[in-house]
Amino acid sequence: MVNSVPASLKPFNTFGVEATCDELISFNDEQSIQNWLKAEKPALDSLFILGGGSNLLLLGHSPLTFLQANIKGIEYCEQKSDNDVLVTAGAGVNWHQLVLDSLDQGYSGLENLSLIPGNVGAAPIQNIGAYGVELQDLFVSLRAIELATGKLKEFAGEDCQFGYRDSIFKKELRGRFVITQVTLRLSKKLQPNIEYGPLKQLFNDEPVVTAKQVSNAVIAIRQSKLPDPAQLGNAGSFFKNPVVTEEQYQTLLDAFPELVAYPVGSGHYKIAAGWLIEKAGLKGYREGEAGVHEKQALVLVNYGHASGQDILQVAKQVRDKVLELFGIKLEPEVWIIGEQQIFSS
Ligand SMILES: Cc1cc2nc3c(=O)[nH]c(=O)nc-3n(C[C@H](O)[C@H](O)[C@H](O)COP(=O)(O)OP(=O)(O)OC[C@H]3O[C@@H](n4cnc5c(N)ncnc54)[C@H](O)[C@@H]3O)c2cc1C
Repeated sequence: MVNSVPASLKPFNTFGVEATCDELISFNDEQSIQNWLKAEKPALDSLFILGGGSNLLLLGHSPLTFLQANIKGIEYCEQKSDNDVLVTAGAGVNWHQLVLDSLDQGYSGLENLSLIPGNVGAAPIQNIGAYGVELQDLFVSLRAIELATGKLKEFAGEDCQFGYRDSIFKKELRGRFVITQVTLRLSKKLQPNIEYGPLKQLFNDEPVVTAKQVSNAVIAIRQSKLPDPAQLGNAGSFFKNPVVTEEQYQTLLDAFPELVAYPVGSGHYKIAAGWLIEKAGLKGYREGEAGVHEKQALVLVNYGHASGQDILQVAKQVRDKVLELFGIKLEPEVWIIGEQQIFSS
């Protein structure tokens, strides 16, 4: 267990903003989390669980204790009866390292989710997804410790209530459990999933032979589209793509025939939030050190010395302009620590 009081969070957020918290405690195993909870009996609202900080906007000082489940280890278990392999990884394993490790072992399943920043423990929180695959497609179970009781609990897929960038851990169980390990189902045989736009184009004439090929393609596409947080602070997509009813979709389509949207079943459509922001004229918009990325309108960036508040200010501008023009209220995908309510009001 490593304890820092008070702690700088600058190295722990991919926006790269200056931020602090009262205390940061990093645990290496489940037992030490349980021991600490038993000894300290902390109030739940005094805690925040930190992963790799790639989906957070921190606003200055948080008067909270940040807990990190820095549990390592990756284990594979081949299933005798069929093609399946189960992989169990500790919450503190870097997600992309897990993807690469599984590919090196010759297993497929995670290739479309290559290069997503962050740790394994955070992956179920928003059901990470990219290029036509979501965590829930591979998910078997997770283990988590209930902060109020210190008890270990196992969650199967149906318990997690996965949805688009959503799970029970963002709703009823928000801030109540620290995830310690995740188990996923991989495959010994490649079942390529290359139907998603840019991947389809790339593999148009070429047969896909290995999962590594798909992974390399995903990495190349991501690197060409998304700013690297090590070069330009960001947290990936700042807003979720809004989902609207067929009626709302038709109204928007009548007004904007070039609207970018996808049917998502049961009469609903997902609208490309990046398109809305770009159409609102905000791609490349900049206020001092914070702004909207010039190539990818869904990504807000720190040009070097922005504070969390500077980035929040740009986010508010984007939200207000999109609401005014399209009547759609964008919801943040990132966790805003300190001022979440401004987006839900
Ligand atoms: C350049 C870039 C590209 C991105 N691309 C994608 C993408 O394609 N698809 C996608 O889905 N996301 C994407 N993201 C967002 C981000 O990578 C994911 O949300 C990731 O899962 C966050 O992991 P983290 O460890 O950094 O979590 P953090 O940002 O530290 O935390 C995120 C949330 O998870 C909670 N949490 C973290 N660890 C635990 C734990 N062990 N137990 C319980 N709760 C926990 C935190 O409390 C917080 O609510 C991108 C981000 C960046 C910077």
